[in-house]
Amino acid sequence: MPVDDKEALELKKFIVSNFDQNDISTCGLTFGISSKIKVIIEVKTKRKVKTEKEVYQCSACMTVYDSDYGDSIANIASGVLFENLPSDYKCSVCEASKEAYLLVNL
Ligand SMILES: [Zn+2]
Repeated sequence: MPVDDKEALELKKFIVSNFDQNDISTCGLTFGISSKIKVIIEVKTKRKVKTEKEVYQCSACMTVYDSDYGDSIANIASGVLFENLPSDYKCSVCEASKEAYLLVNL
């Protein structure tokens, strides 16, 4: 790490202490400080990997209702939770009732 430049070193210290004060972990950061005080910060954020996802599946035809997508056929906007679907909601494929849907983990 090129920290031979005093100004650059000070800047690095400032950045690190600033992150620390803001409770931001610096261990995931890569610093590149040149003598021209050019700071390159690469933030390596831990990607939240969703391994499981809860969706509802029609037990009759295996159609999945995913609240992230909604149901365009039934005019259900994306983001509508299964619980919030109208009670007369029917499977867009086989017209099974809401009760036919079962909670599954993908
Ligand atoms: Zn169905």
